[in-house]
Amino acid sequence: MLGLEKASQAQVAPNIVTDIRIGTIGKLTRIVFEFTAPISVKLFTLNSPYRIVVDMPEVGWRLPPKPLPAEKGLYLRLRYGLYKPGNSRVVLDLKEPVSIYHAGVMAPSGKYGHRLKIELEATTKAKFYNTLKKGALSIPSQNAVNHSPAAPLPNVLGFPTQELKMKTKTLGYHKTNKGTRRFQSPPRKPPNSSKSVRTYTVIIDPGHGGIDPGAISLSGIYEKSITLVMARELRTELKKYRNFKAILTRDRDIFVPLRDRLRLAREAEADLFISIHADSIKNSKISGPSVYTLSERASDKEAAMLAEKENKVDLIAGIDLSQQNPEVTGILIDLAQRETKNRSVRFAGELIVALKNRTKLLRKTHRFAGFVVLKAPDVPSVLLELGFLSSPKDERALQDRRYRARLAAGIAEAVNAYFAQIEQALDR
Ligand code: ZN
Repeated sequence: MLGLEKASQAQVAPNIVTDIRIGTIGKLTRIVFEFTAPISVKLFTLNSPYRIVVDMPEVGWRLPPKPLPAEKGLYLRLRYGLYKPGNSRVVLDLKEPVSIYHAGVMAPSGKYGHRLKIELEATTKAKFYNTLKKGALSIPSQNAVNHSPAAPLPNVLGFPTQELKMKTKTLGYHKTNKGTRRFQSPPRKPPNSSKSVRTYTVIIDPGHGGIDPGAISLSGIYEKSITLVMARELRTELKKYRNFKAILTRDRDIFVPLRDRLRLAREAEADLFISIHADSIKNSKISGPSVYTLSERASDKEAAMLAEKENKVDLIAGIDLSQQNPEVTGILIDLAQRETKNRSVRFAGELIVALKNRTKLLRKTHRFAGFVVLKAPDVPSVLLELGFLSSPKDERALQDRRYRARLAAGIAEAVNAYFAQIEQALDR
């Protein structure tokens, strides 16, 4: 696609998922994953909506070049991808409450490789909630001996779901995997002396990632891929100015929870936060970039719907939101940080001026809505929608390196103009 992820993925992931098949046998819905090596997984259920989450060590994906399985039996759809370093995840959306009738791993036999088989049957809400409480189910790989019927369902309820619910401390750069970088807070900024050139920290936040693809274009381009290449290009542009330090919230195809993106910005004592997205809507004729700043009251219905969609990504990635602490809500209350808000609006203005010279913008370019990622009370923040993946015109443009470079140069110019303005104001 954009040809950036494949090589690095292959290096860290010895086990590869080669197929996912869904079928029904009587009342059962069967889901089979094929792997190139033995696999151990953990399963747990989530409600509203009903989901089964399959967690496994970090794996590679080489699925057949066809669409993902369509809805069948109790199964609705699935998503897959990297959840955090060392942990790949599949989220299965379900039509109704289910119970796991059977789950096990199988050794290769005939034309089939190592397989994970999950069989689901319909159940009552009450029973579903009961299994939910029991926590995760571990399916170790050593059951993969060479008899072809699946190993019986292990009777161990591995570990409490909470543990699996991911110590979301992860910033995507945690573990020690090669090629991943641990994020470190930069040294405190030197005191503001008017003579020294001040360095400004800009957080670039490529939307979505890993298990959360974001919007998908008609031809199958993922928003998560577009936002990442664009973020890297913006970093390159910012480096051309000597006083900017650019940090990406993710630098690979990995899921990063929204509040971790926020936390990164605050820990880095960021001076500016730019979240990069690409929207998708029904009307394929609508195109062009737009810029959002935070407001509890959305400027229009489209803005409200977009914010709602973007704020749901943690749900998409299989995080049980009922277990989250109310940090984000707390931040929301502190929102009265007027200065931060004013600065966000000021930067949005610079951004629109810079982009206007380079491309055709969406009408009513500056909009307001309650995006979670814009809620750091002390970091001026904007969310830039690069365009619409639902528009063939934008899709084509965003795949064009030169177009992206032009936009990136424009954004960097806006960053520069914004800080120059602030410095001027301080000198006065
Ligand atoms: Zn998005």
